[in-house]
Amino acid sequence: MSKYNLEKNLNKFFGFKQFKGLQKSIIKNIIDNNDTFVLMPTGGGKSLCFQLPAIIKKGTAIVISPLIALMKNQVDLIRNMANDDSIAHVLNSSLSKSEVQNVRTDVLNEKTKLLYVAPESLAKIENINFLKQTNLSFLAIDEAHCISEWGHDFRPDYRNIRSIFEKIKSKIPIIAVTATATLKVQDDILKNLEMKNSKIFKASFNRPNLFYEVRQKDENINLEIVKYAKFNKGKSGIIYCLSRKKVEELTEILTINDIKAISYHAGLDSKTRMNNQDLFISENCDIVVATIAFGMGIDKPDVRFVIHYDIPKSIESYYQETGRAGRDGGEGHCLTFYCKEDIKKLEKFLSVKPIMEREVGLDQLDDVMSYAETSISRRQFILNYFGEDYDPYVGEGCDKDDNYLNLNNKTDATFNLKFLIEIIKKTNEKFKAVDIIKSIVGEKSALIVANKADKIDSFGKGNKFNKEYWKELITQASVNGFLEKKSDSIGVLKITKKCKILSNHNFSFMFINNVKKNKNIEVFKNKKESFDNKLFEILKRVRKKVSEKNNVPPYTIFQENSLIDMTVKYPVTLNELINIIGVGEGKAHKNAQYFLPVIKDYVNSNNIVKENNLILKTKGANSTIKLFIIQGIDRKLPLDEIAESKGISMSKFITEMEKIVSSGTKLDIKYWIDEILDDEQQDELYDYFMELEDDSINAAINEFKNLYDENDIRLFRIKFLNDVAN
Ligand code: ADP
Ligand code: MG
Repeated sequence: MSKYNLEKNLNKFFGFKQFKGLQKSIIKNIIDNNDTFVLMPTGGGKSLCFQLPAIIKKGTAIVISPLIALMKNQVDLIRNMANDDSIAHVLNSSLSKSEVQNVRTDVLNEKTKLLYVAPESLAKIENINFLKQTNLSFLAIDEAHCISEWGHDFRPDYRNIRSIFEKIKSKIPIIAVTATATLKVQDDILKNLEMKNSKIFKASFNRPNLFYEVRQKDENINLEIVKYAKFNKGKSGIIYCLSRKKVEELTEILTINDIKAISYHAGLDSKTRMNNQDLFISENCDIVVATIAFGMGIDKPDVRFVIHYDIPKSIESYYQETGRAGRDGGEGHCLTFYCKEDIKKLEKFLSVKPIMEREVGLDQLDDVMSYAETSISRRQFILNYFGEDYDPYVGEGCDKDDNYLNLNNKTDATFNLKFLIEIIKKTNEKFKAVDIIKSIVGEKSALIVANKADKIDSFGKGNKFNKEYWKELITQASVNGFLEKKSDSIGVLKITKKCKILSNHNFSFMFINNVKKNKNIEVFKNKKESFDNKLFEILKRVRKKVSEKNNVPPYTIFQENSLIDMTVKYPVTLNELINIIGVGEGKAHKNAQYFLPVIKDYVNSNNIVKENNLILKTKGANSTIKLFIIQGIDRKLPLDEIAESKGISMSKFITEMEKIVSSGTKLDIKYWIDEILDDEQQDELYDYFMELEDDSINAAINEFKNLYDENDIRLFRIKFLNDVAN
C-alpha cells in the first residue's frame, strides 16, 4: 500500500500530518476495492475517509449526500485545497444546462475525482445514462443512516441507491459512512446496500468531555433557563424546542431578560435564517433557540451547552443534538428537561401516523423515557444503545454524569431479575415492556388476555414493587446485557444469549436505586412556595425591636407580607429592599440599617445562593413592540427608523423606551445619543440629572426648554437611567 504514500497525500491535499483514529485503515480498505462501512461520531473525520482515496484512485468517485448545502461546502473545500475547480463537482437540479455540460465534460475527461450527487438526481434517467459512460472508482454514501426508517432523518430516495447502481455499473465498491450507530440502523444500511462482505469500522461514540444531565421539567422552567443563561453569560449555547411557537416564545423571554438570543426554525424565511445563523457563529449572540431544523452542517466548535427544553423524539436525535456541544474537546453541558406529560404529547402526535411509523416512533420514545428516568450512568445508557460496552465507574468521562454519585447506591435484585426473566419466557418473548410490566403487577390488557398471559401462575406476583421500579429494572437489565430488542419485532423484549447462559448458573444482580434528583430545582421551588420560616421569625423580632424603639406598632414598620417576601428574595441592598412587596423608598431608607445586616448575616451563615437577578421579567401586553425595540437597539439601528418602521411617533416611541428602562431592562442607546448631543451637552445634562432630587422629566424640560429639544432630553434621561440605575 505504500506505493500510494497515504501520509504524503494527506499532507499534500488536506494539510494534516496524521490520520485521525481509524481513518488510515478505512482508506486502505477502500483503495483495495473492498466494501467499507464506517461508524464514527460527528466531528470524527468521516469525509476524509472517502475524499482521500477518491483523489488517489483512478476514475471518479460518486458521493451521495442528503443536503445541497453540505455538498457545496465539501466541494468548495476540496477545490480550494487542490486549487483545481474540476477536481470536485456537484450534480443536482439547481444547475443550468451549460453547467451540467461542463460537469459532464470534466467527468468524461477524468479530471473530476469527486462527483457529489443528491439521491433524487441520481434517479434521473439522463444522469443514469451519463454515468454509464464514465469510469467510476467507487460509490460513497455520506450520512448513510438516511437509508433507514429507524434513523433520525429517513430519506426514501436513499433506499433506491443500490438498484440504481445496478443499472449504472454492476460491480462497484461502496463506502457508507454515518454517525448513527444503532444496531437496527446498521443492519438496515448493510442489508439495503447489499454490503454482505463489507468490513465494518466502528469508532467509539463516547464523548468524554460532555456532561449529561436530566432535570425534572416543571412550571419554573423558563426561570430556570434564564437563570442558567445569566450564569453562563458569554458562552455559546443551543436550546432545542419542539415547536416553532415555543422557539419564538422562549427567544422573547430570554431577550426581555437581557440575554442575547435569536430564533431558528423552518418557518423563518431563508434570509433571516442565514442571518441568525451568522449571528450565532460570529458570536454576536450567545444563544440560538431552535427547532431541530438547526444544526445539520453547523460546525461551531465551542458550543458550551445544549439544552433540550422538550425531550427529543429518539436517543439518536438526542445524541446528534447534544453532540453539537464541545466539539473542540472543551466543556459541553447537555441539559435536558423532562416530564412525563411531554412524552404523552409526543405519543399523541404519533397516534395519527401510519402504523409502521407509529410503532417505530413509540419504541423510540420508550427508550427516551427510560433514558430520562434511569438511575444508571447516562453515558453508559447512550453507548449501550449504540451497541458499545462502557464501564460507568472508570470509563473515560464517567464522572461527567448527573447520576455518577449515585452509582454505588445499590440493592440486590437477583430475585426480581429472575422473576422478570421468567415472566418474559412464559409470555413467549412476545411482549413489549409495557405489557410485561402489566403482567408482573397483575393488570390486564387486550393483548394480555388474548395471549392468556393472565392465566400463567406468575401473573401479578410482582406487585410488591410499582411499575416504575419494574420499568427501571428492565432498563438496567437491558444495559447489562440480559435483554434486547430486535429490529424485526419492534419494541418486543427478548432474552439474550448471555442471559440464557447465566440463567443456568448462580448469578447475582445489583440494582442501582432510584434517588430523588434535581435538588437544584427542589430548593428553588421550596423557596418560592413556602417561605423561609426561620428567617421570618428573626425578622419579626427585629421588627418588634424597631417598633419599640420608635414607639409605633410593628405593622407600621413593615407589614407581614413584606417580611414574607424578604424571606423569599433575601434583599441585601437598598435597591433590593425597595423591590420587596409593600416597601417604598421612604420605608426602605428608614429601616434598611436594621434589616439588611440581619438578612446578610443570615444569607452568609446559611450558604444561601441568592437568586437576585432572577425575577423573571415577563412580556407585557405590548410585548412585540418591546421586543422589536430591544432588538433594533441591540443592532444599533437609528431610533427614528425603528419608530418609523413600527408606524409610531417619536414621542410614543420614547414613551415605550421609558417603560422598558424603568422596568429594569437594559437599553444601550449611547450610539444614538452620541449622534444627537455633543460631549459638552451630555456632560451638562448628566450633571443636572445627577443633582436632581426626584427624576421628574417636566422639571428638566422646563429647565432646558430653550436649549434642547424635548425628545432629546427624554432620550438622554433614558440613557442616564440605563447607566445609573440598571
Ligand atoms: P464528520 O463528517 O465525521 O462529522 P468531518 O469529516 O466533517 O467529520 O471532519 C471533522 C473535522 O475534522 C473537520 O474540520 C476536518 O477537517 C477535521 N479532520 C479530519 N481528518 C483530520 C485529520 N486527520 N487531522 C486533523 N483534522 C482532521
Ligand atoms: Mg460528515
